[in-house]
Amino acid sequence: MLLKRWVAAGGDLVKRALPGYCAFCLEPLEGGVSWCSACYEQLPWNHPACPCCGDQLTSNHQTLCGHCVSKRPAFEAAHVALRYALPINKLVHDFKFNARPRAGMLLCELMQDSLPSPPFDAIMPVPMTPQRARERGFNQARWLALELARQSGLPMLEARRLKQGPSQRQLNRQARFANLAGAFVVDTPPPAYVAIVDDVVTTGATAHALALALRRAGAQRVDVWAAARIPLVVDDA
Ligand SMILES: [Zn+2]
Ligand SMILES: [Zn+2]
Repeated sequence: MLLKRWVAAGGDLVKRALPGYCAFCLEPLEGGVSWCSACYEQLPWNHPACPCCGDQLTSNHQTLCGHCVSKRPAFEAAHVALRYALPINKLVHDFKFNARPRAGMLLCELMQDSLPSPPFDAIMPVPMTPQRARERGFNQARWLALELARQSGLPMLEARRLKQGPSQRQLNRQARFANLAGAFVVDTPPPAYVAIVDDVVTTGATAHALALALRRAGAQRVDVWAAARIPLVVDDA
């Protein structure tokens, strides 16, 4: 029994890692696609969402979220197609913590699907400090940006991160923004229109800080291009 279960689980893992099967329901597929249409339709699409920061809106009639109404971030628009819910959260986790390339390729594919002809002049991944990059051994934002640059033909720019700061996870919205002030430096003058690439966006505090650095360096417009939006779970009060 145990062996049977182990073989079944192993079979699933192999299928999940290989093209030829739907990435979500593991049904065999034809034609080189990565998912079946039923699974694709049921993905947690980020609608309705604030066009500026990508945060979930409560109704279709709202044009901007409350945060963006009171203060717009330094970036103009967020292209975040999905919400961080099943099965996208599993995919992101698999990519980020197990560095699984198949999961990364699927995220790139979903990002490109939501923006078939990206209007940007260049893309820039959210950088890590060299120390954090060494500790983690894998920089998921850079991996995605490299792959998106390769697929779309856009140049990839890089910025420097001066401080990583404490984990953002336990911080509320205001603290996240304060924690990241002055965290990024852009050394080379960027083109007019740059998109910041990251795997997930929570409050947008990281993208805001990097967008400020890009604007200071000469960019006229900065957008965010990410795979999924994570709701901020800590109390905002
Ligand atoms: Zn499927
Ligand atoms: Zn917003």
